[in-house]
Amino acid sequence: SAEPGGPYRVVLLGASGVGKTAFANIFAGAADSMDSDDCELCGEEVCEKEIEVDGEPATLTLLDTWDAETDNKYAQEPCMQTGDAYLLLYSVTDRASFLRASELRISLRCVRPAQHTPIILVGNKCDLVRRREVSVSEGRACAAVFDCKFIETSAAMQHNVWEAFHGMVRQLRLRRESK
Ligand code: GDP
Repeated sequence: SAEPGGPYRVVLLGASGVGKTAFANIFAGAADSMDSDDCELCGEEVCEKEIEVDGEPATLTLLDTWDAETDNKYAQEPCMQTGDAYLLLYSVTDRASFLRASELRISLRCVRPAQHTPIILVGNKCDLVRRREVSVSEGRACAAVFDCKFIETSAAMQHNVWEAFHGMVRQLRLRRESK
């Protein structure tokens, strides 16, 4: 669906409290963006901006519209169907959120069957070393099983968050080239 260079629709998924809003705020605040005032479509939950990845511009529309509280799959499915790519977050301090990420990965596969939709499994809050409940190797193994990329981040420390967005763009470009 997406044109070269985007805009690519990237959806944030994950349990409540894992750091989706923190991710969206970093993206919207974008010290890294080419022009920090260019967030044209920025609202509460949607932010579109152009970033530079590997010397080429790409436009990302980040959607933080996921309602983690609802069990209503009719409310969730449209959100699941809307993305060109997904950042699937859990907190390394919350094992339940890790299990939830697995469930969401399975739901994504049902909603978007037979599509090579880029997904990155993101273990956030890696700064909270002493509260860690999910190891790096568990995260990596889960990503391998689910055939997606993996990264650990700390939104609080702004560690690896842009790497996750850049990785997303690289995957979207690769997918486009392979079509
Ligand atoms: P959401 O429900 O997924 O949108 O989660 P939020 O972004 O609202 O984050 C929930 C809480 O975790 C907030 O108090 C954040 O400040 C905190 N938080 C988010 N990311 C991190 C992180 O990487 N490290 C730490 N220590 N706290 C974080």
